[in-house]
Amino acid sequence: MGFKEVIGNNGVKKILHRALKQKKLPNSLLFAGPEGIGKKQTALVVAKTLNCLKKTSDACEECTHCIAINNGNFPDVMVISPAKDVLKIDQMRLLKDTAYLKPMVGRKRVFIIVEAEKMNDEASNSLLKVLEEPPAFSHIILVTPNPYRIIPTLKSRCQIFQFSPIPKGEIQKALVAKGFQPEKAQILSLLVDGNLKKALSLEWEEVRSQRNQAWHLFLALHKREKAAPLLKQFSQSRAVIKEELEQTLEILSSFCRDVILIKEKAEPEFLLNPDFEMNLDEVAQSVTLSQAMNFLNEIDFTIAALRRNLNVNILVSSIFSNFLEQSHV
Ligand SMILES: [Zn+2]
Repeated sequence: MGFKEVIGNNGVKKILHRALKQKKLPNSLLFAGPEGIGKKQTALVVAKTLNCLKKTSDACEECTHCIAINNGNFPDVMVISPAKDVLKIDQMRLLKDTAYLKPMVGRKRVFIIVEAEKMNDEASNSLLKVLEEPPAFSHIILVTPNPYRIIPTLKSRCQIFQFSPIPKGEIQKALVAKGFQPEKAQILSLLVDGNLKKALSLEWEEVRSQRNQAWHLFLALHKREKAAPLLKQFSQSRAVIKEELEQTLEILSSFCRDVILIKEKAEPEFLLNPDFEMNLDEVAQSVTLSQAMNFLNEIDFTIAALRRNLNVNILVSSIFSNFLEQSHV
């Protein structure tokens, strides 16, 4: 995969491409931005370009170096990820020791640190010097969705590239290229919040049943029925359940946005769930705009709380009982 095949973030790619072409790529870089939008992929393209045997401003994908990097067995390119959720000092020591050695077979050594925010303080501090003055033949790329969790002294030593979520149209195109029907691709592209990786991992049948389930929950909340049985499945604080709950809440949020759009008389093509249009119309008839907006706020608040790792049990029992008592919709 060269720059062209990395979807989205054209601005960032252009700057990197130009810097590589002019041989002016900074040695310490930080790629920041949400999950699933191609940060690590881009870092690998940079690593390949720096070592490609055929091109100097992109990866050819054919030479032995590009192929070895793609296979993860090129001695001068090291991808470092957290072990048990922490990047430890030993990993950074190995990086440091290797960074000062000349490349073995390539032109440049490249170190890609993924989930760089998981570096503990010791590890961060040990990296300061090499990030400050890396040897000309070594590039270090920190990759993170949470740059604010990286210590400022580390960040200030890197040139920061901010990556953006992938536009819905691009995600849709990628899904169609993967074999999805255009209508299904459209619906999926609307549900993933610009996360291309997540979009490509989705199975339509799974999403379909999840949306139907979310719709029942939406109706139960709307009609002030007991939603407890539907919620019960989520009230266990297992990670997988948490992720499922988050997805369900995102779908609820998309239903709510659609109700608001209908109330505001938006054109149907703007709906996030065009296949639910008739059902959504019905709900929209029976609520006020401010009720729908309150409901949406509650859902978005719950999603944010979940992402801050608040206890799933507490969230489910408190927030949803609030929904039911106050019945905003
Ligand atoms: Zn190549």
